[in-house]
Amino acid sequence: MSTLKIAIQKSGRLSEKSLQLLEECGIKISNGERKLKAVAQNFPVEILFLRDDDIPQYVEQGVADIGILGENEVWEKGKAVTVIQPLGFAGCRMSLAIPKDESYTDLTYFEGKRIATSYPKILVDFFNRNNIQVFIEEISGSVEIATSIGLADAVFDIVSTGSTLLMNGLKEVETVVKSEAVLIANPNLTEATQAILNKLLFRIQSVREGKQNKYILLNAPNSAIESICAVLPGMKSPTVLPLVNEGWSSLHSVIQEDDYWNRIEQLKNLGAEGILIIPIEKMIR
Ligand code: ATP
Ligand code: MG
Repeated sequence: MSTLKIAIQKSGRLSEKSLQLLEECGIKISNGERKLKAVAQNFPVEILFLRDDDIPQYVEQGVADIGILGENEVWEKGKAVTVIQPLGFAGCRMSLAIPKDESYTDLTYFEGKRIATSYPKILVDFFNRNNIQVFIEEISGSVEIATSIGLADAVFDIVSTGSTLLMNGLKEVETVVKSEAVLIANPNLTEATQAILNKLLFRIQSVREGKQNKYILLNAPNSAIESICAVLPGMKSPTVLPLVNEGWSSLHSVIQEDDYWNRIEQLKNLGAEGILIIPIEKMIR
């Protein structure tokens, strides 16, 4: 029987969330001893635990069929893999930073400068597009100390909060690109592995939609139901059930995670009471 081989990061910022995503998709993996490989007990997949840098190559070669990693690594490695979908975690940006006392005007500041980075390809592409010549110092880690030790005039690195830059006397002056974790696949999957991948994608989709939405329950006087329904579009239309209290109904619907605070204010103003917001585990449209 076919299995889908999934490469995920062995240990690092992506590992926990990658495993969590697979678990939320109902894939149980026991990898107590942190082996290189694990087989799921209830879904035809095999997990390979690798360094994130190696994942694009393994997926290109078909050693793994799919992989989970930061899109920044996909761009940097430039391998023949297909980005299937963003996964909504490990969000970060890739930025240029310079010593904080330098005055900065625009990108031309970097003309002829030495820039330290672990992402030379992304950086060269960026400056080529902008017709600016820079000198790149490729280093594999601790990029943020490069200016203070005199290795470079500026740095190009991954930033999430910016505190590492600040601590090293740097200021962020340009965001080059934004990245998050993505699912990549080998472009030539067999029909059988593609079929397993489709099943997995369906599960990922319902997990992600579940996270992006909330279930909402509320009570309201019947006279307010129509205007409340207008505020809550729901999946089709809201469910309205009569309450024992004469003239009142209970209304059930689905509301998007990112705007429910605004909606709740509106609903209260329209006469809604006893509002409950409940997480959704999976959502299938
Ligand atoms: P490995 O040992 O597997 O090569 P690594 O040290 O290259 O790991 P991590 O630091 O674990 O990688 O980061 C993995 C990914 O997490 C990055 O490529 C990036 O997509 C994402 N990420 C999100 N926020 C940050 C951040 N603040 N710093 C670094 N990476 C981040
Ligand atoms: Mg790495």
